[in-house]
Amino acid sequence: MIKIDVVTIFPAMFGPVFEQGVVGRAIERGGIALHAHDLRDYTHDRHRQVDDMPFGGGPGMVMKPEPVIEAVEAVRAENPGPVILMEPWGERLDQPLAASLAAEPGLIIVCGRYEGIDDRVRSALDAREISIGDYVLSGGEIPAMVLIDAVSRLVPGVVGDPESLAQDSFSGEHLGWPQFTRPAEYRGMAVPDVLLSGDHARIRQWRRQQAAQRRAPHIKELKKT
Ligand code: SAH
Repeated sequence: MIKIDVVTIFPAMFGPVFEQGVVGRAIERGGIALHAHDLRDYTHDRHRQVDDMPFGGGPGMVMKPEPVIEAVEAVRAENPGPVILMEPWGERLDQPLAASLAAEPGLIIVCGRYEGIDDRVRSALDAREISIGDYVLSGGEIPAMVLIDAVSRLVPGVVGDPESLAQDSFSGEHLGWPQFTRPAEYRGMAVPDVLLSGDHARIRQWRRQQAAQRRAPHIKELKKT
C-alpha cells in the first residue's frame, strides 16, 4: 500500500486520469490511496489567494509559501512519505528513481503553477524537487500524474504479473523487445517466424537479441533498477 497526497489548485484534474487502467484499478482495490487536496482550502483570506507578485519585479506571479506549507503540514500528519515539489530544474525522473519512490510508504506531491513556488517552501519542508524532463509545462499537475503513474505500476500487486514489469524497458539492462499479436499476417506484413515456432528457447534468444539491438538515442548506458 502506498499513500499519495497531491497538493494542487486543480484537484479535479486527477479524478478522470486515475479512474482508468491498472492504476485506476489499484486505487479502487486499495493498493494505492490517492488524494488530491485543494491548495485554496489552506488560504485564510476571502479571495483564497495562492499567488502574489515576485519580489524584485518581473513578469508573472509566484506561489505563496503559507498555503503550500500549511497544506503539506496537514497532510503530513497522515502520510510519512517524502515531500516532492514538481519543478523543471529538479532531479530527472527515470525508472530507478520511480522504483525507489515506489518503496516509500507514501508520497506528498506539490504541483507548482505560475512562475513557480516561493523558494522558502523547499527548505522549510526539506522537499525533494523532481522534473519529468528538460522542457517547461504550465503547471505541475501533468508532471505529478506522470510521476504517480510511473511509481504506482511498480507498487507490488498493481501490475498483476511481475514478469511484465521485469521485461519492460529501463527495468533491466535492456529495452523492451518488439511485440506482435494476431493476425500473423496483415497487409503482407508477416510476424517473425520464430514467434510462431513454439520453441521457447529460440524465442527467448530472439527477443534478447532484438532488445539488445534497440537503442534509445539519448541513452548511453542503461542503469540497473
Ligand atoms: N519559471 C519556471 C517555470 C514555471 S512552470 C522556470 O523558469 O523554471 C510552472 C510549474 O509547472 C512549475 O512550478 C512546476 O510545478 C511545473 N512544471 C513545469 N515544467 C515541469 C517539468 N518539466 N517537470 C516538473 N514540473 C514542471
